[in-house]
Amino acid sequence: MLPLLEKYPLLGEKLPYVSLGEFPTPVQKLDRFGDDVGVGQLFIKRDDLSGEVYGGNKVRKLEFVLGDALQNGAKEVVTFGCAGSNHALATAIYARQVGLRSISILRPQPNAGYVGRNLLMSHYSDAELHHVRNTWLAYVATFYQRVRHKIGTGHSPHIVPLGGSSALGTVGYVNAAFELKEQITAGELPEPCRIYVALGTMGTAVGLMLGLKAAHLKSEVVPIRVVSEQLASVRTLTELFQKTNYFLCSLDSSFPRFELSESRVDIRDGFLGQGYAHFTEDAMEAVSRMRASEGIKLEGTYTGKAMAALIRDADDQSLRDEVVLFWNTYNSSDFSGAIAGLDYQQLPRSFHRYFEEDVQPLDADA
Ligand SMILES: *Cc1c(COP(=O)(O)O)cnc(C)c1O
Repeated sequence: MLPLLEKYPLLGEKLPYVSLGEFPTPVQKLDRFGDDVGVGQLFIKRDDLSGEVYGGNKVRKLEFVLGDALQNGAKEVVTFGCAGSNHALATAIYARQVGLRSISILRPQPNAGYVGRNLLMSHYSDAELHHVRNTWLAYVATFYQRVRHKIGTGHSPHIVPLGGSSALGTVGYVNAAFELKEQITAGELPEPCRIYVALGTMGTAVGLMLGLKAAHLKSEVVPIRVVSEQLASVRTLTELFQKTNYFLCSLDSSFPRFELSESRVDIRDGFLGQGYAHFTEDAMEAVSRMRASEGIKLEGTYTGKAMAALIRDADDQSLRDEVVLFWNTYNSSDFSGAIAGLDYQQLPRSFHRYFEEDVQPLDADA
């Protein structure tokens, strides 16, 4: 039983939910890496182990979002992202697991090894893939595909929002904060002063911020922006916080109400580099230091940039006596076996460029 739903049984009755992952995810102390970068006590929350086939932060959100699709009698889901989207892949994998077909509408992005691998795995998971040039065309394609599928099956595909970060999906990370609280109470780690996490569609960071308050933890979330400011700003973050808080209160009036003033939200935005999925020197250095000292895999689009911020903050020794938690949002399950025999020529033609063109110079994991 999820700790949030145990604490608020009314939420348990009212929230749509389907179990997909393996929780709680472990907390682990990183002695070597902590020493190396200068953090007193550094811990990592292993959400990379949230699912056997595919882990990462999307699993917690999809347990609610796909639960909603099933409760609505959906047969298919449609979702969005960039070509290498971890979210689109997670949706494809878990939708199929619960008997839903999935459609992904994907936009271009800088090339990297993981893009092709994620596309092949989505294809392996029977997702119907469409590549569109821009956001506007994504709307058009979504409308068109929903009509086309409705004519074909009698049902409109259920919409899974970008990154799974609706108020409902964000509840997955409200629960994650309650899960962390149980691990603190059990003595697995002291209460962290800070929690570093990548900021994309914001469901992860916002869910944690709300959940930590509700669970009476004082840890401060440090969100590191890895997408454009249009997507993740102080204003949009505050809105998602209020929307999620309101949503939970509307289902269970005993859930507390919080004010999050915009002046208290501190988004770190010096680590994006040239843009979403453009790897930076700092991020790739963080990735290789982590791999060398702990054998844990980070990547250049999200977690490497978030870890680069943590390393920068530790540089002046100010974290020497602190307890810090890094929330690992990336997947660490190896699915290379599943895609080994697949030929990219089976994908729609517009995706072939990710297999035929060079990856960006800083992508070393080829
Ligand atoms: C999607 C994703 C994020 C961002 O999470 P949001 O909830 O969208 O802010 C961070 N890390 C990884 C690896 C992701 O795939």
